Amino acid sequence: MTLLEAAHDLVVINSVSRNEKEIADFVEQRLRLAGHLSVTRIGDNVVASSTGSRMKRVLIAGHLDTVPGNPERVELTSERLIGLGACDMKGSLAVMLAQAQESDQRRVETSWIFYAREEISRAESGLLEIAAARPDLLRGDVAIVAEPTGGTIEAGCQGSMRVKIEVSGARAHTARPWTGVNAIHRLGQILEVVSRYEPLSVMVDGLEFQEQLQAVLVEGGVASNVVPDYSSVTLNYRVAPGRDEDEATNHLTEMLQSVLHEGDVVTVLDWAPPAQPHLANEEISRLLPLVALPARAKVGWTDVATFAQLGIPAVNFGAGDPLLAHRSDEYVTESELADFDRTLRDYLN
Ligand SMILES: [Zn+2]
Repeated sequence: MTLLEAAHDLVVINSVSRNEKEIADFVEQRLRLAGHLSVTRIGDNVVASSTGSRMKRVLIAGHLDTVPGNPERVELTSERLIGLGACDMKGSLAVMLAQAQESDQRRVETSWIFYAREEISRAESGLLEIAAARPDLLRGDVAIVAEPTGGTIEAGCQGSMRVKIEVSGARAHTARPWTGVNAIHRLGQILEVVSRYEPLSVMVDGLEFQEQLQAVLVEGGVASNVVPDYSSVTLNYRVAPGRDEDEATNHLTEMLQSVLHEGDVVTVLDWAPPAQPHLANEEISRLLPLVALPARAKVGWTDVATFAQLGIPAVNFGAGDPLLAHRSDEYVTESELADFDRTLRDYLN
């Protein structure tokens, strides 16, 4: 069976987030056939760990779920597989599943982590479910998160903050607006600042991370003859490694200082921390020269940050073009899978 055919077996199982039972059953069943692995099922997550006594342990992690899409549209040729989740990230899962089952003659111990609900809110993440139930299963010296990276190393990740700004005003009749303060007009001033935001470049470990700020939701209005006393805007702020939640919040309020008034309320709705690139880590620097392309900064948030929070340096490294992830025509190619398979094997051996 080719890697593409193995990936096809996973793509034909519908596993939109919160619907991972069937694919978890499939993966668990395969892993249990390999005698050298200790396999643990927690909800719809499966962890298979080698049980030898080598000094180091490498964690290789991938999510089982996909974003919503049309699971019926699957097309397999000898060169590529088109289908929901082919790129993000069932191609890499197929490589992980195949290597996990191979008899274990490696340089390091390995733990293969297949987890549920990565594509939805972080609070529901299967990786956090494993961390809560069996933190021992996530112990290791380094982690590879096999998200699609085009076969290169995407180091670290951006942090992501959602902030709601509630804008105050004073209600009045629209015929006599001078007796009030229009909170929607004030929102315009805030949006003006946000839309003029210039992405900030931050160099970390020689890699360039870009910060981004976007308005993602607005609310407001009372009635068509009322000057509104309330409006709100929700911002998504993507920050470079190194900023913590307080620093990110302070930076944002400073940026908006000139347009915020007393009575306005700034609330952090959620915060996912960034992760450092860790390029100097011994295990990560062993992986770097095996990859043809130079490492680059990860654009976006991934579970490398979850591993970082657990004290485990991690990188993003997997098959598939990251620009195809979440697209309706996503695909992965046989040569992408072969490259990922070879590099991962060289690294672990
Ligand atoms: Zn993904």
